[in-house]
Amino acid sequence: MNNKLFRHIVGFLSLFIVFFVTVSSSLASQSVSPKKYKVIIIGAGISGLSAAKIMKENNIPFLVLEGRNRIGGRLYTVYPWGVGLDLGATWIHCINQNPIAEMVSRLKLETVPTAYNDNILSAKFKSFTLYDADGKRVPATSVSSLSLIVQQFDDYVLSHPNVFASMSMADAYAVFAKQIALPQAKSELLRYMINNVYLYEYAADMPLLSAQSGIAYLASPVSGPNVLFPGGYNQILPPLVKNVPMELNQKVTEIDYRGKTIDIYTENEHYQADYVIVTVPVGVLQSGAIRFTPALPDAKQHAIKQLRMGVYDKIYLLFDKPFWDKDSEWIGYMPAKNQTDGMWDIMNYYKVTGVPALLVFTSGSLAENVEQWLDKDIVHHVMAMLKKIYGDAIPEPSSYVITRWNDDPFSKGSYSYLPVGASMKNYQLLAQPVANRLFFAGEATSTQDPATVHGAYLSGIRAAKEVMKVASVKQQAAA
Ligand SMILES: Cc1cc2nc3c(=O)[nH]c(=O)nc-3n(C[C@H](O)[C@H](O)[C@H](O)COP(=O)(O)OP(=O)(O)OC[C@H]3O[C@@H](n4cnc5c(N)ncnc54)[C@H](O)[C@@H]3O)c2cc1C
Repeated sequence: MNNKLFRHIVGFLSLFIVFFVTVSSSLASQSVSPKKYKVIIIGAGISGLSAAKIMKENNIPFLVLEGRNRIGGRLYTVYPWGVGLDLGATWIHCINQNPIAEMVSRLKLETVPTAYNDNILSAKFKSFTLYDADGKRVPATSVSSLSLIVQQFDDYVLSHPNVFASMSMADAYAVFAKQIALPQAKSELLRYMINNVYLYEYAADMPLLSAQSGIAYLASPVSGPNVLFPGGYNQILPPLVKNVPMELNQKVTEIDYRGKTIDIYTENEHYQADYVIVTVPVGVLQSGAIRFTPALPDAKQHAIKQLRMGVYDKIYLLFDKPFWDKDSEWIGYMPAKNQTDGMWDIMNYYKVTGVPALLVFTSGSLAENVEQWLDKDIVHHVMAMLKKIYGDAIPEPSSYVITRWNDDPFSKGSYSYLPVGASMKNYQLLAQPVANRLFFAGEATSTQDPATVHGAYLSGIRAAKEVMKVASVKQQAAA
């Protein structure tokens, strides 16, 4: 046999072998019968884990499927410097009547109160050292007197829900600013303070944010101060995952609820369940990463489209020792006139944890833009800002950690916000079950505390109880 013919035969044989192996292995994987459970919970964030807690307590056969190789979702603590750095949530927002605070006190975890408080948005300015664009200190008395007006604006918007129903927060502020008619210098400072508060609370620029955004929280059961965890938020997770059946690295791609049982497909597995609790972020639902067959009802799809994911990121910078205003919780740098895109926010991490680090925040369109930058450019920009304030002689950071939540395929943003044109109804619609078999939880399904850890936690419990109610009615009917 000549060489050429031999090579043809070998080539043909190897093609045949590849074809045979591919077909037979795909047939084999199809013939493996799907794993079957009463309930499948999609997502091991705090809402998925609170739903799991209810399932576990009631001995219901269930499984949690998580796409990432870790639990916690938007609760994510890393320890690169020997201390906990929270890359996701930082605060327990308002510790009274808060289920997370109750958990923390049972676990005896260390927390530290902060001036920043969601109940009183202007409280942040009680411990806030502000510098102007030239790095000159803005008198503390100016900040403190205007913080009263910040609070007045918040109360004003909340007490006129119908007047501002279809307006943006920026438009509502324009109406308010006309009424108080401050002199130019003061009005610029107030504008900065208002923008700072709303941008960082809701992770969206004021022109995009519905003036109704705060209304969601009026019915919230929680109150009191905010606290954070020097040892990291993830410390609350171990008791929640104990004895929870779970598969990591299982990214769900399709939920088919046409049949008697629901078929759930991940990238490489097939599962079946009678009920499914979907807890993935609304950003993931918007991206179409999970195909629903049949498509979700129009009202649900509309609610998914209308809500938005805000972007809120963190940059931790570690230094040998602090060179900044050590006693101030916040350090503000007021961008030059009309440059809201320069609205970076700096938290003195040293004050709350004793670690010589700064925690720099970006939010809204600023965060979206900054996510596109290289790490070194982000650090350089922050350092240039700090040099304006503290002088060129300040040291470079010895290390840094940067988040990019918008770029994360399992999150697609940081947390939900209500854009202009949407209403509270969107959260309700997102929470509603479909066909009494698909149930929805997660922060964006909370009608009292969206965008928070405790709101997400309570939503998981709500969805789990909905499943149990439907399942027990079915069981009774069958008996
Ligand atoms: C930077 C940042 C700061 C924040 N700060 C605070 C704060 O200080 N206080 C506060 O109360 N809240 C804060 N939040 C919001 C809070 O973290 C969230 O509201 C809460 O953690 C959301 O929980 P969840 O269970 O709804 O969603 P998630 O935690 O996102 O859980 C959903 C899970 O679903 C998984 N998933 C996604 N897609 C798939 C798929 N296709 N298949 C399988 N699994 C999938 C994800 O990996 C994730 O684990 C912050 C969030 C961020 C990002």
